[in-house]
Amino acid sequence: MNTEAYRQLDREHHLHPFTDFKALGEEGSRIVTHAKGVYIHDSEGHRILDAMAGLWCVNLGYGREELVEAATVQLRELPYYNNFFKSTHPPAVKLAEALCRLAPSHMNRVFFTGSGSEANDTVLRMVRRYWTLEGKPDKQWVIARENSYHGSTVAGMSLGGMAPMHAQGGPTVPKIAHVRQPYWFGEGRLGEGGDGEERRFGPEAFGRECAAALEAKIQELGEENVAAFIAEPLQGAGGAIIPPASYWPAVKEVLARYNVLLVMDEVICGFGRLGEWFGSVYYDLEPDLMSIAKGLSSGYLPIGGVLVGDRVAETLIERGGEFVHGFTYSGHPVCAAVALKNLELMQAEGIVERVREDIGPYLFERWTTLAEHPLVGEARSLGLVGALELVADKTHGKRFAKDLAVGNLCRDISFDLGLVMRSVGDTMIISPPLVITRAEIDELVRLAGAALDETARRLAAREQADESTLREESRS
Ligand SMILES: *Cc1c(COP(=O)(O)O)cnc(C)c1O
Repeated sequence: MNTEAYRQLDREHHLHPFTDFKALGEEGSRIVTHAKGVYIHDSEGHRILDAMAGLWCVNLGYGREELVEAATVQLRELPYYNNFFKSTHPPAVKLAEALCRLAPSHMNRVFFTGSGSEANDTVLRMVRRYWTLEGKPDKQWVIARENSYHGSTVAGMSLGGMAPMHAQGGPTVPKIAHVRQPYWFGEGRLGEGGDGEERRFGPEAFGRECAAALEAKIQELGEENVAAFIAEPLQGAGGAIIPPASYWPAVKEVLARYNVLLVMDEVICGFGRLGEWFGSVYYDLEPDLMSIAKGLSSGYLPIGGVLVGDRVAETLIERGGEFVHGFTYSGHPVCAAVALKNLELMQAEGIVERVREDIGPYLFERWTTLAEHPLVGEARSLGLVGALELVADKTHGKRFAKDLAVGNLCRDISFDLGLVMRSVGDTMIISPPLVITRAEIDELVRLAGAALDETARRLAAREQADESTLREESRS
């Protein structure tokens, strides 16, 4: 089958996630056929540097034979058995132990799911159950943040703060509130709506203001009604938003004053992305629960889970009776075997230390040179996550008009030049495999620079075309 044949069948039968079905039908999909290391290959013979690690998940890169082998061996041994009805199997038990060894010392239990969304569904049920068992059934409210991403099931979407998802999702799950996000460039520096008006205070004051918004919300709802605060260590899908340094210490101070659980959604930051095993460790937080998925198996097979701290686990175990929740594929043996091998490889190869001490700082050094580009209002990175803010006016950090869709233009150009960068509005983001080399980072930054140049050239050409149309119109 050739590219057109695949595109035709895809158009006729396949509804893609987060996609305008009609527009994609007209344009046609890119058919990715194979991959190796940090490169994907498509059916047209293009080799493309995957600076998104798939969807923030292929941390060990493509084509790792050890992971293929682990899956193959387990498929032969026991392809499936469940963990219901007083049963389990070696891969689930071994993975549970390995995870709890890597997690902060107060986290000694894990509940397995098939994905990050299911992990956050589990979180919602666990925190509400916990407070009920503690004799505080009114503690039901969960506070999350605007523009956060916690998955796409109904509970995941409700916990997340993505306005377009709420608009389509129908009524969301009750008793979930959202507070402002610590997005300095978008909402601090640029002001609400990115109007380009410089604020009088700096990022650190802004970070404290966002933490104060959490405290105000707890007081508004009443501490006796609030179960938990859930957040990503740094927001991924929202635009690789790195909070100001003041933010997490200030949030910690707020939470210390109230009896509210802390849930960290580690689906992206977990497993080395920030140069620690968990983002919570990087930010020195002690969460009660952590959602995990994505990098847990380097994306080779779907698996997620919730790491449960002793405080919550003891109540659920000692007083809970049956917890009536679980999935057919909770702790699937093949997925668990691959995740376990993935963690072993990460340890044997010192991947987390490498991100912290070598390749993370190198990415920062190279990536932030892009800040000099006329289109870039800010270039930031932490560990192996990076973002570029595209702006119309560099001096004032003023955004482009939304309908120009400059971020999408830059993303498409980047793809054509051989680099996967993703766009979130006019924020370009990267999250490359953790095994990326220095030479590959050089190539990544060179291609990103070329994509910026070409985006600027096309915008200028568009502007010229618009001007000549205007001249023509005024002449006639
Ligand atoms: C991807 C993601 C999820 C959802 O995970 P799925 O496996 O797609 O369900 C949840 N939280 C965060 C932070 C994510 O990035």
